[in-house]
Amino acid sequence: MGLSKTIWTQPSEFLRIHDGDAPVMFFAPGLLQAMARRFLDGFPGLVTYAVKSNPADVVIENLAAAGVRGYDVASPEEIRLIRRIAPDAALHYNNPVRSRSEIAVAVELDVDSYSVDSHSELAKLIEMVPAAGKEVTVRFKLPVKGAAYDFGAKFGATVEKATALLREVAEAGFIPSLTFHPGTQCTDPAAWESYIRTAAEIARAAEVRIARLNVGGGFPSHRLNGIVPQLDAIFALIDRVTTEAFGDTRPALVCEPGRGLVADAFTLATRVRGIRDGDHVFLTDGVYGALAELPLIGGIDRVEVRSPEGIRREGEGRACIVFGPTCDSVDRLPGELSLPVDMAEGDFVLFHGLGAYSVATNTRFNGFGDLSIVTTLALRG
Ligand SMILES: *Cc1c(COP(=O)(O)O)cnc(C)c1O
Repeated sequence: MGLSKTIWTQPSEFLRIHDGDAPVMFFAPGLLQAMARRFLDGFPGLVTYAVKSNPADVVIENLAAAGVRGYDVASPEEIRLIRRIAPDAALHYNNPVRSRSEIAVAVELDVDSYSVDSHSELAKLIEMVPAAGKEVTVRFKLPVKGAAYDFGAKFGATVEKATALLREVAEAGFIPSLTFHPGTQCTDPAAWESYIRTAAEIARAAEVRIARLNVGGGFPSHRLNGIVPQLDAIFALIDRVTTEAFGDTRPALVCEPGRGLVADAFTLATRVRGIRDGDHVFLTDGVYGALAELPLIGGIDRVEVRSPEGIRREGEGRACIVFGPTCDSVDRLPGELSLPVDMAEGDFVLFHGLGAYSVATNTRFNGFGDLSIVTTLALRG
């Protein structure tokens, strides 16, 4: 993946001189830093960044510059990435299943916190991680609606098992904490409420005073024009419910946003390869590229179309079936997308809010996906 050193004013300034079909990811560092400040100022606790959502160096550099001091990592590679760019940051290794060689790297690079959801994996941590000053957070799950994607299907102990694990963690001498991940793109603040109340019940049942409660990620980004994320309402709910549930044993709070921090700082520009018999639209990027996530969590309608000269198409919208460039028949965007009637072959179709789970999961399947990141001051215009 290439990174241009030039900073452009806005996408259209670059697109006017962009010859070729390769998709381009526009990145606005100022928007990322502004979003980081919104979390740092608004969230009532420690903000850590879920690195997997977008591990590009420029993302970590700008988050570190904005004051993000903690990172949620899932692999030795992500641990080394953070140690390289933000050497003093706190590392939270929240992939609850780790090989012994992965744990050895974590110990060597001084990871601060580990999540766990099973007795077998806790036994490995007890054996390999010197407990003094290190935190182990027990991850639990609930059947909760409100997320675009159910994370509980893979990780998280039941309430009963989490209670036993929390007791074991405390007895082993680790700093005992609890964590959950409510899902992703949770537009309803209520997604956090029952988890926080249950965390208090687990701590009471285990008779363990927890040091911290990590309320996971799941903070929404702006994907649909009609649904603007209500971050302040979510922060307020988390703050209020934590006090109600824990009273004077209220733990410190941690959050680990990925999407909510990074998505809105990026815009993807793809190009119209062809409009088949005036009907099906074929783009130069699709579900094997930066749009990989759309079939899993739903479409994005924050879209604009620009001519090769960078002029915005203002025609009335019509619902189109949109395909990506590969020869695989699943390479289709979900549902239909409203695109202007005056859109033509060679035009650019821009998708806003595409910074999460896009750069990281892009593939070169069928020879497509030659994605580059271009830095701009703004993403509009
Ligand atoms: C993926 C993940 C996150 C980030 O989720 P977003 O929905 O992008 O905020 C946070 N915590 C854990 C444990 C995760 O696996």
